[in-house]
Amino acid sequence: MKHLKAVNKYFRKYKWRFLLGIIFVIVSNYFGILAPQVTGYVMDKVQVKMQRLSPGDAASYIKAGSKSYDPLVKLFIKEVENRISQHDFAWLVMICGITLLVFALLRGLFMFFMRQTIIVMSRLVEYDQKNEVYLHYQQLDTEFYKMHSTGDLMSRMAEDVSRVRMYTGPAMMYFINLVALIGLSIFYMVQKDLELTLYVLAPLPLLAITIYYVNTIIHKKSENIQAQLSNLTTNAQESYSGIRVIKSFVQEKAMESFFEKNSADYKSSAVNLAKIEAIYFPSISLLIGLSTLLTIMIGGLYHIKNPEDITIGTIAEFVVYINMLTFPVSAIGWVASMIQRASASQKRLNEFLETTPAIQDVANPVIPEVKGNIAFNNIDFTYAHTGIKALKNFSLKIPAGKKVVIIGRTGSGKSTIAQLLLRMYDPDQGCIEIDGIDIRQMNRRELRNQISYVPQDVFLFSDTIAGNIKFGLDTASDELIRNAARQASIEREIDLFPEKFKTMVGERGVTLSGGQKQRISIARAMIKDPGIVVFDDCLSAVDARTEKEIIGNLYQYLQGKTAIIITHRVFSLFSFDEIIVMDEGKIVEKGTHESLLKLNGHYAEMYRQEQEQEVSEG
Ligand code: ADP
Ligand code: MG
Repeated sequence: MKHLKAVNKYFRKYKWRFLLGIIFVIVSNYFGILAPQVTGYVMDKVQVKMQRLSPGDAASYIKAGSKSYDPLVKLFIKEVENRISQHDFAWLVMICGITLLVFALLRGLFMFFMRQTIIVMSRLVEYDQKNEVYLHYQQLDTEFYKMHSTGDLMSRMAEDVSRVRMYTGPAMMYFINLVALIGLSIFYMVQKDLELTLYVLAPLPLLAITIYYVNTIIHKKSENIQAQLSNLTTNAQESYSGIRVIKSFVQEKAMESFFEKNSADYKSSAVNLAKIEAIYFPSISLLIGLSTLLTIMIGGLYHIKNPEDITIGTIAEFVVYINMLTFPVSAIGWVASMIQRASASQKRLNEFLETTPAIQDVANPVIPEVKGNIAFNNIDFTYAHTGIKALKNFSLKIPAGKKVVIIGRTGSGKSTIAQLLLRMYDPDQGCIEIDGIDIRQMNRRELRNQISYVPQDVFLFSDTIAGNIKFGLDTASDELIRNAARQASIEREIDLFPEKFKTMVGERGVTLSGGQKQRISIARAMIKDPGIVVFDDCLSAVDARTEKEIIGNLYQYLQGKTAIIITHRVFSLFSFDEIIVMDEGKIVEKGTHESLLKLNGHYAEMYRQEQEQEVSEG
């Protein structure tokens, strides 16, 4: 329960709505509680008529029955009694019937308002909480995302938040409703007769406890079923998206039997649950029926012993109270388990909301005005969760406006350099400076805004192509988007799509090749025009001719910018200011294309291998 304290701030935020909701609950129950009293009155009238009591006896009988009614009901009775002499008995019954109907309508109306306030409040809280979680996600760094699976993150956002909503909404509402109803009905019952009240209420706790236990069992089982269902869905989804692999490896039969087994497990659990539920609901009705029976029986005994105090109307009144109480009381178990689950979910949310990102801005970050002098000074960097030492005493100075190529085998630490420059991680040793300022002193947003970055692994959103290209810019004219696409050599291909730049990407749209995705990702970087450019191996899936074309355009684009071009292939066509050769987290060679060939080391070897490959490929 203590975890749910975190939600209190939302109750405070919506306190007026919440308070109004509580008032509606009370008013609704107030009208509810008047119905048994009017029913009791009619019953007494019937009794008086059947017993053919003398007017005097009749009056005192009615008086005894109605002595502890609500003032509003008393007023109603007074009015009816005043007029009864001019009408017959049917009129009386009809008037009472209409009154009951009016009370029921009023009760329903306020119940509607109660839902409109409390349930709506819980939706508002849910919305706020989702935003809170999402905002926190955005602040956490890459390290966090490496440690948590997407599924885990998603379930916090979706499941945990909605479970907490069950607490702020339905559970809260049922609870207040229960308290109001119990409070009001016990108030009137005790005024009538304390002993009888105790007798008739006695079975209710039993009912609540039984339902709580059975509910827990049902809940466990249905959670299980949920898990199996999601298993089944994942299974089915994987086989749809992997259908080509399945077919080419002739694994249809194997997949089929796997699915069948999962499906059979799901079926038997579901059938099992259905059986328990089939017993559950009739048992509740039985328990409710029993308490009604008990009320009539005990009330009857009281009436026989003491007809003056406990009238037939009182018994009827109590029966209606008990019937009104059984549902909310049986909901206690349900509410309790809902609160338990909400608490567990909120605990998970709290844990997550309390994780602070390892990389944070300093108190008064510098807003850089980048000229583009980059310096890596003696950088050591180890990936914390794997212990892989990716950079060892790495130093590199790139004066503003210079273009540097970083080349090296896979795993030599090239991408790590880019990640550190963007401050996705902080180095263990050494520092990175831009224009002489340590990037840790800078505002991260501004730093990243100054760098146009094409990551090694392309990611496109389920959006239009134009939307993907202008990602991160608030506004971008069609002209600009087209221009960026042209520079990335993807314009012609986009124009061939049915809806051109408005074509959707991903599952709901076109399927793009790896090379096309890379080029859209390049266009996304090229539409920005900052002083520093970092391209991480972004031409790996592009054919040789297109590569030449893009590099040609790059020449234009890079004018006056500082550039780091990461690659695992040699570009001989473009004259870069410096070529850095990386191996095992260290710089092993540096120079120009010609000087490195002359050196006849790693670079020359790579170049030779590439030339041979090109020749053999024709
Ligand atoms: P390159 O880009 O040259 O292929 P990377 O900089 O990606 O090399 O990787 C350098 C080393 O760090 C490799 O051994 C790689 O396995 C490891 N590495 C890269 N990224 C991560 C990561 N996110 N977590 C743990 N280890 C990583
Ligand atoms: Mg890489």
